[in-house]
This record gives sequence, C-alpha cells and structure tokens, in this order.
Amino acid sequence: MSEEFLVVGGGISGIACARALADAGREVVVRDRGYRLGGRMAVKTVHDRPVDVGASYFTASVPVFQGIVQSWVDVELAHPWTDTFHVGEPDGLVGTRTGPMRYATPLGLRSLVEDLARGLPVDQHHEVEAVEPGPTVDGAEYAGVALAMPGPQALDLLAESLPQERSVSGGVWEPCLSLVATYESRAWPEIDGVFVNNSAVLTFIADDGSRRGDGAPVLVAHAHPLLSASHLDDPDAAIRPMLAELEGVLGINASPSSVIAKRWSLAKPANPHAEHYFLGRNVVGICGDGWHGPSRIESAYLSGRALGRAMAGLGRAAT
Ligand SMILES: Cc1cc2nc3c(=O)[nH]c(=O)nc-3n(C[C@H](O)[C@H](O)[C@H](O)COP(=O)(O)OP(=O)(O)OC[C@H]3O[C@@H](n4cnc5c(N)ncnc54)[C@H](O)[C@@H]3O)c2cc1C
Repeated sequence: MSEEFLVVGGGISGIACARALADAGREVVVRDRGYRLGGRMAVKTVHDRPVDVGASYFTASVPVFQGIVQSWVDVELAHPWTDTFHVGEPDGLVGTRTGPMRYATPLGLRSLVEDLARGLPVDQHHEVEAVEPGPTVDGAEYAGVALAMPGPQALDLLAESLPQERSVSGGVWEPCLSLVATYESRAWPEIDGVFVNNSAVLTFIADDGSRRGDGAPVLVAHAHPLLSASHLDDPDAAIRPMLAELEGVLGINASPSSVIAKRWSLAKPANPHAEHYFLGRNVVGICGDGWHGPSRIESAYLSGRALGRAMAGLGRAAT
C-alpha cells in the first residue's frame, strides 16, 4: 500500500496542506496543472515588472498566519502596505476607509507560495483528471489525496462513486475580470487602493506601483461580478467600460500605454462552508478558500494547513 499523499493544487491552500504533511514526516507530492505555482495569487509580467492580476493583497488575523507573514516580512518577501483605502464612486473619490493592515509583495504574491513550497516535491504542468475510491488518482494509489482548489474544479475530478465528497464540492462561485492599465506617468491622485461603490462596473482599484513599492504608473481594476459574468467569453470586450470607469473614479485625463484583461471564472465562493475542510473515510480531503470563509489568502492557508495536519494524523495511533 502506498505511503505517499498527493496534494492536487499548487495554490496557497495546497502548499500549506503539503507543508503540514511534510512537517509531520509524511511523504507527499504536489501536482498542479499550471506552469507556475500560486493559483489565484497570480502574477503577470507587464513591461518587465510583476503585476498582481489575481489577489491584490492579504491580511493576517490569526497568530499562526501572522507568524508566517512576519517571516516573509523579515526576509523582505512581503511588507505592510496600507491600512487605509479610498472610497470612490463612478465619478470620483468620496473619502477614505481604515481597516486592518494589508500586506503586499515586491515580487508578486505568487513569490510567497513559491517560498512556502521550497523543498517540497512539486509536479507542475500536470493536469489531474480523475479521483476514485482507493484513493486513486488517474489510476495510481495514494495513502490520501487532498483537492486544494475551488469547489467546481474539485467536483470535476471526483468519480460518481465518491458521493459524499461530491456533495461538499461544486457550489456557486463568482467570476472576476482584472484589468491592468499602464501609463507613461502617474496621472491620478495619491492612492493605495479604492473600494468602488454604487457601480455596476468596478469593485476595486489597486495602485500597483504603491503596493509593489516602486511607484510605477500601473493600475489594476477588478470588475463587478455581473459585468464579469457577462464577459467571460470575451474579456477584451469589457476593457472599454472598465477603463472608462477607472478614469472616472480617479479623474484620469491620459490614455494608457497598454491595457490587458484577465479572466477568473471561479474567483470566489458565494457561500463558503463553515468548516475548515472536508476529510471522509475514503481519505480524500477537500480544502481551499471555499472553506471557512470569507474567501481570502489567509483562510485558504488555514484550510490547507488544517487538512494537512488532519491527514498526517490518520493511522498514527496504530503505528
Ligand atoms: C481577482 C481576485 C482578487 C482577489 N483578491 C484577494 C485579496 O485582495 N485578498 C485576499 O486575501 N484574497 C483575494 N482573492 C482570493 C485569493 O486569491 C484566494 O482565496 C486564494 O488564492 C485561494 O487559494 P487556493 O489555494 O485555495 O486556490 P487557487 O489559488 O485557486 O489554487 C488552486 C490550484 O489548483 C490547480 N488545479 C485546479 N484543477 C487542477 C487539476 N485538475 N489538476 C492539477 N491542478 C489543478 C490550479 O492550477 C491552481 O493552481 C482574490 C481572488 C481573485 C480571483
């Protein structure tokens, strides 16, 4: 019988799960279909500099995650960014709102997942197709399998013969389009980020130069879920309304030098589970930001870590 655990998904929840298994002395391998780790903590290189095109920033409220964040701050992989965002409406800024400290990264959020994965065996650019009782994955047997991804992606992998696992997968997830606009120079007021209210087009704008710390004239805007849903087949068609609103909120009178749109079909769960993870008698576990919401980097990390620790404890009493 195999002693090896398989974690499917190289986002922060999958890497946290694998790290917990490895720390407990278990054999584990991570498999991800992407070329790079990070999942929705995605980075795109635009004009030779990294831009966060998925998650914008992260917060840390629980001591165990605060400890990890401090270790990233200590080695300058992350820095406290801001606790104050502006609030805007389609035709301008209307005030500010203070909240928890938001952290950002000089190299892009993906660099944190890559750091957490250091030393773990990772099998990249390898799509998993089927998880069956055993548990087996694409025909190979494992001691346990963790699916660390959005619920609908997990559901796609689970065989009909795993009804309990299927019943806690799937669910409704909201889409999001991200727009990256670069400019010749900074043609907007000093901001870090803007929550956009009373809009059917945008929800949030980040000043990427501010969060990265290099001051580059780059903005990233996130579209409203309804606008995103209606442009999933053709994200480029959403560029015009998104750019018009970005310019309206920030009072920009200059044309961007480049604009791209990125589509997230499964950006965040509408109704996350209350539990931290699922683990049933088939030793197929499910974790990610669909568990113990709100959907955030921190909750995804905690979900993956909790599942990894639970899986690592299985069978230990008998040995
Ligand atoms: C536009 C946007 C903005 C966001 N903003 C914020 C924010 O500001 N702050 C915040 O805290 N959070 C934010 N989030 C949420 C945050 O990104 C997620 O909570 C977190 O990254 C989820 O991590 P995860 O590991 O659970 O899932 P993912 O990051 O989605 O990782 C899943 C991984 O599974 C892999 N995978 C899927 N199917 C297969 C398969 N069949 N075979 C192999 N691999 C597979 C994928 O390639 C992916 O790498 C945002 C998300 C989006 C999309």
